Amino acid sequence: MHYLRKELYQLIKSDESIFDFIQESSLDGLWYWDLENPEELWMNVKFWRTLGYDSAGMAHKTKAWEQLIFQEDLQAAKKDFQNLLTNPSFPYHREMRYRHKDGSTIWISCRAFAIRDGKGKSIRVVGAHINLTELKRKEQLLVETNRVARVGAWELDLVHNKLYWSEVTKEIHEVSPDYIPDLEEGINFYKEGESRQIITECVEKAISEGVGYDVELQIVTHKNKTIWVRAIGQPEVYEGACRRIYGVFQDIEKQKQAEIKLTESEEQFRQTFEHAVSGIAVVGLSGALLRVNNSFCQIFGYSRKELLTMNFQDLSSKEGLKESLKKLGELKRGEREVYYNERKYIHKKGHYVWVSISVSRVVDALGKIIHFVAQYSDITQRFLATQKLKQREKEVQQIFDNAVVGMALVNDKGKWIRVNDSLCNFLGYSKKELLNMSFAEVTHPDYLKETYHHLEKLVTGEVTVFHQEVCFIHKNGRLVYAIVGVSRITNENGELLHYVAQYADISAQKRAVGKLRQERTFLQTLIDNLPVNVYIKDLASRKTLVNQMELKHLGVATAEEILGKEESQLYPPESAKISREEDLFVFNTGQPILNRETLNIKIDGTQTWFLTSKIPLVNQEGEIDSLLGISYDVTKFKEAEEKMRKYSILETKSKEMEQFSYIVSHDLREPLATMKGYLNLLVEEFLNQMPADAQEILQLSAEGAHRMDELIHGLLDYSRLSQVKALVELDCNQLLEQVLADLSATIVKNKVIFEIAPLPTLLGFVVEMKQLFQNLINNAIKFRKRTISPIIEISSQKIKAGWQFKIKDNGIGIQESEKERIFQIFQRLNKDYEGTGIGLANCKKIVEKHGGDIWVESVLGEGSTFYFTILTKGLGKTVHG
Ligand code: ADP
Repeated sequence: MHYLRKELYQLIKSDESIFDFIQESSLDGLWYWDLENPEELWMNVKFWRTLGYDSAGMAHKTKAWEQLIFQEDLQAAKKDFQNLLTNPSFPYHREMRYRHKDGSTIWISCRAFAIRDGKGKSIRVVGAHINLTELKRKEQLLVETNRVARVGAWELDLVHNKLYWSEVTKEIHEVSPDYIPDLEEGINFYKEGESRQIITECVEKAISEGVGYDVELQIVTHKNKTIWVRAIGQPEVYEGACRRIYGVFQDIEKQKQAEIKLTESEEQFRQTFEHAVSGIAVVGLSGALLRVNNSFCQIFGYSRKELLTMNFQDLSSKEGLKESLKKLGELKRGEREVYYNERKYIHKKGHYVWVSISVSRVVDALGKIIHFVAQYSDITQRFLATQKLKQREKEVQQIFDNAVVGMALVNDKGKWIRVNDSLCNFLGYSKKELLNMSFAEVTHPDYLKETYHHLEKLVTGEVTVFHQEVCFIHKNGRLVYAIVGVSRITNENGELLHYVAQYADISAQKRAVGKLRQERTFLQTLIDNLPVNVYIKDLASRKTLVNQMELKHLGVATAEEILGKEESQLYPPESAKISREEDLFVFNTGQPILNRETLNIKIDGTQTWFLTSKIPLVNQEGEIDSLLGISYDVTKFKEAEEKMRKYSILETKSKEMEQFSYIVSHDLREPLATMKGYLNLLVEEFLNQMPADAQEILQLSAEGAHRMDELIHGLLDYSRLSQVKALVELDCNQLLEQVLADLSATIVKNKVIFEIAPLPTLLGFVVEMKQLFQNLINNAIKFRKRTISPIIEISSQKIKAGWQFKIKDNGIGIQESEKERIFQIFQRLNKDYEGTGIGLANCKKIVEKHGGDIWVESVLGEGSTFYFTILTKGLGKTVHG
């Protein structure tokens, strides 16, 4: 025995601490069992601690141990004890499992040793524990890992010519767990051909040269599946000979497939990358261009070689770089998966290129960013087109907004979707209000039907645009007018998007036209009611406008019958010629003809005297293009003038006559008075002395002288009527009373019956009025019928300018043909009646002196009615006869 060992024994025997140190530090538990009292079992502190218990207070009983050991392992342990007790050489060494206080499994390697008495009977057993738990866990983990990684182990024992396969190796070969392989079979699992050849060579080389191998080959499994495996062999050489080869065997089918796929996809990626239409670049984290494709080179104008020495920042314009870096940062930090942008870059030649980019990250298996992949599309053309479009849109918008005319976009429902300021002003609504309305709401109902009709045509494509005069209702209720032009806006398929409408405000024109029409109507009314003929003639002397008087003159009902007709169609040639010459004078000289007396003869021969003016009319260019004719019908005046002319001759004659009568009657009175005196003397003094013949002659002479005296008186009265006298207020009733009183003898004698109505009071010449009544009443009595009593009616009636009197008798009457003549001086119808024929002439003169007239209505044999009027109302106080 080694002396140190001997010494250690001694020490252990003599010093407990040495034993304690050994049992504490080298073991995970120690127990000591009393077989004579088998329920007694002592377990040291480490035993308990290993199982998670504090030894103090733990019962040192077999029962306690039995409860801690896994029940599955208890029987096997007991069986081993049994063997140990009967067979001293039995090596008690067993792995067993205990339940830790925390419930986990504790793997223990237990060795036990039986202590026997002098008779060889086992009386005690001492046991030692080593905690295998950690080891076991690792082993388990390895097995599991290998299983998951499909890594098996194998060993070729060349000494005993045995092949060992681990469980996983068998699984890989798809053989049963109890399969026992041999070298030849093992080799034959490799796929015939290249794989089998390589493995054979590898094994031979390992054996002969001691060279290990690591190869990827294909095997055909027991279930006839071809899979990729990785075979690693490591020879163990001892004394120049290879004793064994051991190694690993791994199923790498999945990885291989993945690898193949990867290669394929990598190829695909390469192809895609290279031939992509858009530029693609792999960009390093620093921004370096790691890989670029053709399209990328084309976009930026650099060669691939140049680009691979550049950073993406080198291509960026300053403006966009900041944002790009910011977004890259976000991408790096994982705040976004991908970023899109559209911005300008700089081409090699210095100009800008507009590019749309999308950048995404490429990460490794651990999620770490390796690099970025950026795709670039050249959108310069599109960008420029868009820019242009935007510019155009802006321009259109400006035109729209600032247009003087109202403009609007209207959708297919008639709603306004865009309106400009002019339209708002026109309709009086704000933009906001209008955009909530439809055009129909502000259109006058009378115009809507036509608008819808037009819109329908627009929708069907029958027309592409329409114009309509429309009346709208302004917000303040006033009516406003516009010429509206509407066209439609369609998409590329020709489908209606909306309408575009323009509104030209014509309210002012409308008002002006209205006013003009009004003025025209006024003018037409005015000229129609003028008591003159008005017309306008064009340069060919055709009438273009005429008034009512002219129509009446030409005897037509409507202007259409005259307008546009030549002079020759309306007047006989001579008249037409004169008129045309006048017109030409006006047109050619520009001078008007004013108040020229013209005789117009119509085709029917009617003659009309006109006072005509023809005035040239000048158009806007200052040229004479027509004339205004005004003709005043003076035919009546002409006739009156003629009458007047005749009348004045008459008057002169009558004046001379009056003068003559006066002189004659006045001068005749003296000799007549002398004659009458001498004749009366003769009658009184000498009548009885004369012979009968002479008496008769004397009588007749005296009567003749008397009649002559009456005549002279009458004449004197008649001529006196012309003298100036004063108008006084006369009560005709009183006047008549005096007249009747003067005539009372005659009235009584003739049994005259009067029927007198109340008469008016008026202005008149007293002597003359009395004479007037006296003459008329006297005549009514004088020209009575012999057979009946005279009845005389006297009455009056108010007329417009004065009074009309009526004196009616039932006398002999007057022949129709004589009704005018009796008012002339010395005109007598009936020589059977006494008279001078001056009475009615006087009456006429008196009535005319009072502004009136006298006439008679009569039926011969049935009586006469004399009428006279007194119109002194408008006369001055004095009148000259
Ligand atoms: P005189 O009576 O002196 O003859 P007048 O001038 O008074 O003259 O009348 C003219 C004529 O008118 C009369 O002669 C008579 O023939 C007729 N005459 C006048 N008055 C009447 C009358 N009332 N009825 C019928 N004849 C009348």
